[in-house]
Amino acid sequence: MVASKFQPTYARQAYPCFDEPDFKATYDVTLWKPVTYVALSNMNEISKTHDDESNMDIVTFATSVPMSTYLTCFVVCDFDNKEVQIDSGEVGSKFTLRSYAQKHELHRINFAQDIGKRATEYYIRYYEVPFPLPKLDMIAIPDYVSGATEHWGLVTYRETSFLIDEDSSSATNKMNVANTICHELAHMWFGNLVTMKWWDDVWLNEGFATYMQVKALDNIEPSWKMLDQFLTKTLHPVLVTDARLSSHPIVQTVATPDQITAIFDGISYSKGASILRMLEGFTGPENFRLGVSDYLKKYKYGNTVTIDLLSCLDPYFKQLYPDLNITYVMDTWTRQMGYPVINVKLGDEPNSYFITQSRFLYDPDAVYANDSKFNYRWYVPITYTTTNGVHEQLLWLSDTAENIKIKLNDDEKWLKVNNNQTGYYRVNYALSMWQTLIEQLKSKNNQITAADRSQLLDDVFALAEARTVPYHLALNLTSYLLVENDLLPWETATFIYGNLKSKLLNSLAYYNLQKYFQRLILPIYVKQNWSAQDLPVIDSLLRTQILTLAVRVELPDAEERVKSLFLSWLQKKDTPEEITIHQDLRDMVYFYGMKSSSPADWDRLFQIYLKEDDVQEKLKLRKALSAPRDTTILRKFLILAWDETNIRSQDYLTVLMQISANPSGTALVWDDVRSRWPQLVDRFTLNSRYLGNVIPSITSTFNTDLKYKEMEAFFTQYPDAGAGESSRQRALENVRNNIRWNTYNLPGVASWLQANHRA
Ligand SMILES: [Zn+2]
Repeated sequence: MVASKFQPTYARQAYPCFDEPDFKATYDVTLWKPVTYVALSNMNEISKTHDDESNMDIVTFATSVPMSTYLTCFVVCDFDNKEVQIDSGEVGSKFTLRSYAQKHELHRINFAQDIGKRATEYYIRYYEVPFPLPKLDMIAIPDYVSGATEHWGLVTYRETSFLIDEDSSSATNKMNVANTICHELAHMWFGNLVTMKWWDDVWLNEGFATYMQVKALDNIEPSWKMLDQFLTKTLHPVLVTDARLSSHPIVQTVATPDQITAIFDGISYSKGASILRMLEGFTGPENFRLGVSDYLKKYKYGNTVTIDLLSCLDPYFKQLYPDLNITYVMDTWTRQMGYPVINVKLGDEPNSYFITQSRFLYDPDAVYANDSKFNYRWYVPITYTTTNGVHEQLLWLSDTAENIKIKLNDDEKWLKVNNNQTGYYRVNYALSMWQTLIEQLKSKNNQITAADRSQLLDDVFALAEARTVPYHLALNLTSYLLVENDLLPWETATFIYGNLKSKLLNSLAYYNLQKYFQRLILPIYVKQNWSAQDLPVIDSLLRTQILTLAVRVELPDAEERVKSLFLSWLQKKDTPEEITIHQDLRDMVYFYGMKSSSPADWDRLFQIYLKEDDVQEKLKLRKALSAPRDTTILRKFLILAWDETNIRSQDYLTVLMQISANPSGTALVWDDVRSRWPQLVDRFTLNSRYLGNVIPSITSTFNTDLKYKEMEAFFTQYPDAGAGESSRQRALENVRNNIRWNTYNLPGVASWLQANHRA
């Protein structure tokens, strides 16, 4: 088969064009194809003739609507499809959604087809704009460079982003597929119908689609609670990236193809989405929807800049805040990098508080030029909750205000700022206020929501790392986890644990960290079971989360179970006594089961991997192949992985990162990447942002001057980083932070763990 992918700057290699997003044009496409094949493009087929001389079919498609070059797409394949009607309700007419996959994969497209139908119908209702094309196709492509691409009317997916086997796919597999589909389909309007003028504003496309995917899923699969998971999957990770000097403003000038592809990053996607969520938070969901709908209607088939979206939201915003300027408010978030920490201090009278802001950076000693016209201050929406519940009145802390004051009633015992972390900022409190919040968390009456508990955990550890609060305060807060029963805070706790683990791995404190987390997790661990029984989706995710963490902290019972479960599965696989591991547990059982595997176990798993035809199952098996502690096995895997018959090109860099994430494999991969860099560049090109991202991933745990010098030497040897330039800066800053962490924080953390690892 052949399939194209031009985004962002490759259409020029297929046909002569002004290959920039605001040169929209109509397209008349004709494709020649072998008789038994299918030809697809953005529009519907209008005629097919046969050329006797070449014995080829000539397929002609309808003239397209005006669209950007990067959205054009051509596919010729021998795949099969299923089709379903899309009901546009009052908004437009019915049309057909077709889902394509390789013939032997056809039974695995029902899930994607169903999500695709319901998401498309949701967007038609939400935007109140008809689907702009006469048909919509989605296709799973066997080796695809991205996760998926929003080609208008012909959305292309990696097979793992599309195919679901109902018998073996996990809840996480389904959520990932559904998220990708909802993301791409959101673009059919936002991005495709209305497109950014230039790539500077790519966040308009990507931030919006990233937020809409969550809103769509919250509507069509409410039991998944995707809006809650937005915190741990999208907001918290980008709050890490954006608190470093190597970050960049959401709206950023880009000129070269390398700069353009590099800006498809966490800031555009995740910060963009988080800022829009905040905007929706203070504008109101229905007002936000109306503004977006007006915007799509006003600019359809056109191009826009950020201010055009804000102008459409402004009339609704003005109803609530007549004295504020929406563009000014949002510019403080989109035109300077970073974000604030909101400081809550005791006020000048009983139960009153002063609220101030300052820039949050992980490095408190960072020296930076004041190159922002907003002086690294923000226009901050302040919301808060107390003993008496959520205070409905929203307060504004402007960029120029010194502070604002909150006065509570006498019976309000505690104050928690930033409800459900809708605001893109962190919050710090006076020490006595933190103590009160910790007591409140321990009382487990759930007056503080799961999202807020997750935020408190995430914030306090970030503040400790930045030396804004003492580490013992952050560690004290974790003691409430003994009574925590919800998924979201445990996801955050797992993130915190992983971070501490990587920093303590080679220190004596590591043992105490393991013991301490064993103690924290035990009460919830004993409530879980290892059986193959199905659970409601959130309960099942919680079970996987807890059992995985239990194995990681080396809880003896969990370690034994995972090992015996894995070995009996491996031994009985493909025999009549074959045992079933619940699909939501397979990922972790395979991975942790392989940790102490023998070379023979590994060979057996590798054969199972090669034979497996379910792409989601293959994903789990492949990850497990990178798990062994035995470096000899990892070295063998690294060599085998280069061969495309073992590992597809689309997956090779992921395999590299997975092996390097294994402490036994980090040095191996670092040496390998440095010695074979020219080969990697040859295969993936310097214009690949995925190749660039390999560097921060491999070096993420480096924490010595020696390693830092190795990185510098490597970058000096290969000065042209292509699209990976900002990744290199990010990697260096991260390692500097790690080195500093050892100096300032290691002793305090080690002594706290020494004192508290036993009950
Ligand atoms: Zn996108």
